[in-house]
Amino acid sequence: QADTAMYQAKSNGRKKVYFFDVKMQRKADKRLHIYNCLKSAIAKNELFLHYQPQHMVQNGEIIGVEALVRWHLGGKQQISPAEFIPIAEETDLIIDIGIWVLQAACRQFVEWQLQGVNVPQLSVNVSTRQFHDNNFVDSVLMVLEETGMDPMQLNLEITESVVIEHAEDAIRKMTDLKNIGVSFAVDDFGVGYSSLSYLKRLPANELKIDRSFIQNIPYNVSDMAIVEAVLAMAKHMGFNVTAEGVESRQQLEFLQRQQCSFYQGFYASKPLSAEYLALYIKRLQG
Ligand code: C2E
Ligand code: MG
Ligand code: MG
Ligand code: MG
Repeated sequence: QADTAMYQAKSNGRKKVYFFDVKMQRKADKRLHIYNCLKSAIAKNELFLHYQPQHMVQNGEIIGVEALVRWHLGGKQQISPAEFIPIAEETDLIIDIGIWVLQAACRQFVEWQLQGVNVPQLSVNVSTRQFHDNNFVDSVLMVLEETGMDPMQLNLEITESVVIEHAEDAIRKMTDLKNIGVSFAVDDFGVGYSSLSYLKRLPANELKIDRSFIQNIPYNVSDMAIVEAVLAMAKHMGFNVTAEGVESRQQLEFLQRQQCSFYQGFYASKPLSAEYLALYIKRLQG
């Protein structure tokens, strides 16, 4: 009850609802409903993961998978993480979800290896609030130890927003984890409050170009110019680049011409259950 009140106060403060508005009230009610359901879903272990394959642009080889959280609200309709993750992120609920996702994904990854399913790398999304939690580094270490996951095969996806506040702290945390072998990707690159001076200092290994720059290729010349520019910059700064949301052969061919390293998207595969991912890999690797 206490944190329900806190949630309301916070969401009101942020949205500046100082007057009565039916639409806004309804939206707030819906968010509160989602928040409460999500909280009990975590307790009841109702979240699950799908995995989207990531490939080499040049030869299609599989280089890893990205874990993506899934949830059927009320046991029925799917609700997108793009909708419920931001709600979780307004409170410490995101910390519980984040640890659960990391644990479940690492456990599955180790399980695949025991089954002889060779997945080279596991990418896990880390939200900004989760990253800034004081126990973040320790909780990653704990999960690695508990699951037996090799840190060299773990890649954490963060967004540019982690360095907007507490840049020194963020860089220190990333460096600590990098020192034991964990790598980092900057997710949704290009749509955040990109600051190139921070990017220069970020100890990340990879940039993931946001889907919005890929989706209108080959029809939007500005988007193509942006992708080319990001690739040139990344090359000089020593970042690998993954293109997100590749849906067509023309898009893949453009990325081949531009010598982009990696891609993921519906053109190769949608996110798959652990079971289907294993079949996908077996089929690919023969
Ligand atoms: P993201 O990390 O950028 O993940 C990529 C999203 O793009 C996924 O959506 C994926 O299904 C979708 N996608 C991949 N290829 C294509 C394509 O070719 N076309 C289109 N239209 N979409 C494609 P999803 O799974 O709905 O996740 C949305 C966002 O929610 C993620 O964006 C990420 O920011 C967040 N999210 C998902 N799982 C987690 C999680 O476990 N923890 C955290 N903190 N955030 C998560
Ligand atoms: Mg991601
Ligand atoms: Mg994202
Ligand atoms: Mg993304």
